[in-house]
Amino acid sequence: MTAAAPPDVKRVGARIGVFGGAFDPPHNAHLALAKAALEQFKLDALYIIPTGQAWHKSRALIEPQHRLAMTRLAFENVPGVVVDDRELQRAGPTFTIDTLQALQAENPQAQLYLFIGADQFAAFKQWHRWPEILQLAIICIADRAQSMPAQAQFEAYPGDSERFFTLQLPLMPVSATQIRQLLASGVATAGAIATLVPEPVALYISQHQLYRSR
Ligand code: ATP
Repeated sequence: MTAAAPPDVKRVGARIGVFGGAFDPPHNAHLALAKAALEQFKLDALYIIPTGQAWHKSRALIEPQHRLAMTRLAFENVPGVVVDDRELQRAGPTFTIDTLQALQAENPQAQLYLFIGADQFAAFKQWHRWPEILQLAIICIADRAQSMPAQAQFEAYPGDSERFFTLQLPLMPVSATQIRQLLASGVATAGAIATLVPEPVALYISQHQLYRSR
């Protein structure tokens, strides 16, 4: 199979989306969010960026090479997606501001859009240098079951309302935590996992026996 041509993001006015996550593992809500982002924001490219050891996750993530491989498999058929491993290459904690600044420097003509779930947005003011993130990128939020709706959270940013948008996405109760727990419990059938993650990811998890309790 020939690789798709890299998206053209160098031109003036290009729209670049950024969607980071532990992707431990990537699941169907991540995929739905990415597709909605590309379509609703008419993105020229969507950078999917697996995090290194994210500063805000105390839990140890599984090995970076597994998360990267699964992320590539999850998004392989989505035109416009670029899976970018720069945060996995970085030593120490990963900060979104560093990644956004690097992407902006590489594409000075582009407008950046940062996509996050409402659970992450609730903690946004604890993010490293968040006011600079707000200046660099337009923040697009997907509502999430059990998190305060994005619209209700916008009140915390008076004067910045033009920097925030809600992504139109039906609530999807799936989480990576739930998938890891199901696998660790040993009761999850292959069929159950296949309803929560893209098929090639389910296959990869099974082949590599990931998330089983030892
Ligand atoms: P965990 O359960 O381990 O915390 P997660 O399911 O939240 O993982 P992450 O990789 O941490 O997955 O999420 C990456 C991004 O995707 C975050 O911005 C998160 O808010 C968003 N996201 C994850 N699941 C959903 C979902 N079901 N609906 C909307 N956004 C989601």
